[in-house]
Amino acid sequence: MSFKSLGLSEPLLKAISKKGYETPSPIQAKAIPPVLEGKDVLASAQTGTGKTAGFTLPMLHFLSENSKEKYRPIRALVLTPTRELAAQVFENVKEYSEFLNIRSAVIFGGVNQKPQVAKIRQGIDVLVATPGRLLDLESQGALSLKHVEIFVLDEADRMLDMGFLRDIERVMKLMPSKRQNLMFSATFSKDIKKLAYSILNNPVQVEATPENTAVEIIAQKVHRVAKAKKTDLIIKLISDGNWKQVLVFTRTKHGANRLTKKMISAGITAAAIHGNKSQGARTKALAGFKSGSVRVLVATDIAARGLDIPLLPHVINFELPNISEDYVHRIGRTGRAGASGEAISLVSADEISYLRGIEKLIDMKIDVEIIEGFEPDPNASTEPIKPGQNRNRNQGRNRNSNSRSSGNSTNSNRNRNRSRNRRRTSNN
Ligand code: ADP
Ligand code: MG
Repeated sequence: MSFKSLGLSEPLLKAISKKGYETPSPIQAKAIPPVLEGKDVLASAQTGTGKTAGFTLPMLHFLSENSKEKYRPIRALVLTPTRELAAQVFENVKEYSEFLNIRSAVIFGGVNQKPQVAKIRQGIDVLVATPGRLLDLESQGALSLKHVEIFVLDEADRMLDMGFLRDIERVMKLMPSKRQNLMFSATFSKDIKKLAYSILNNPVQVEATPENTAVEIIAQKVHRVAKAKKTDLIIKLISDGNWKQVLVFTRTKHGANRLTKKMISAGITAAAIHGNKSQGARTKALAGFKSGSVRVLVATDIAARGLDIPLLPHVINFELPNISEDYVHRIGRTGRAGASGEAISLVSADEISYLRGIEKLIDMKIDVEIIEGFEPDPNASTEPIKPGQNRNRNQGRNRNSNSRSSGNSTNSNRNRNRSRNRRRTSNN
């Protein structure tokens, strides 16, 4: 199987080989042909399997083959849940369209909207966006979705997790009803199927490597440890192993900051990436991590979702997530593009119930190892840590829609939505 045999045009093949890809990944091989045929497609494959190119390449092929000169309305819209993902997808669109007469732009919250608006005014074919900023700019009249021919919902599962369902519905109302719809997701849940049913017309469904197969090839280990000794243990593991590139997950932003500070005091270069960090700080942290100047990146689930960090050798769960699926997403960061990786979880007594839930989901027992001097506390309570996950997720959502400052409560979301509606009505 080659990219050429999939029917992609020469300028795209040139960009693909410049990028260094030799063969399409399984999900690309399955998704590209039906997308090229103009069908609605629902595609699911785990993180790191090349889904971005799976929709970007055929989308660019279609747009360039049916090009509209001079006047450039937005003809393709890609929605992603986070700023980082939007930036990454945009980066891909730019690379793949290098030899095409296609213009693209990206918009997301947390940064000044002016340059984004100016860019759109110049006329673009492809817009990559997070829902909040997109709806904001649309309601200000800064952009129109009335000429969208292809709509892509990327990381659809996380979109739902982050509470974007209503925003997605709003966006759909702004586009012509006759269009091609593509939905890409790492997981394939009941909710995803339901959403697909409401967005897609007579879709072709493609799937590659069920999630659990990936889980089986990643070496996983649990260190049972007293909560109070976790920081010392993680520093010991990283130092003793002389690990150069480690992604660490914490449950909270506060926890991420605290751990980052301790790492730095221990002489390990580290940076935190989470929703309270400015866009600039997040981009800088990620760039430092990729280039090797930052050894440890400490992240929360939402911030890390979908980050393109190739060939990551070590992932450490400083705390287990209380949502078992998040564990699978986290460890999916190792062994990208076929390389093997190691995922280590530090588990204190209050996380045992999360561990059981995870083992049930992945349908396997994870090996437990206790390191001398870091034994679990026999008297610690096994009462689970309070999740507080909903609050986090709402925060993630607010981050992306950005423009209005206050509050993370459901109430303020609701008010905000209401004011958005009102504005839209008055614009009509
Ligand atoms: P996903 O959206 O499925 O999580 P991405 O689209 O972010 O995955 O791709 C993951 C990584 O794989 C990226 O670094 C990308 O450049 C690389 N990649 C994608 N397609 C191919 C390919 N056909 N051959 C080699 N590497 C690829
Ligand atoms: Mg992706």
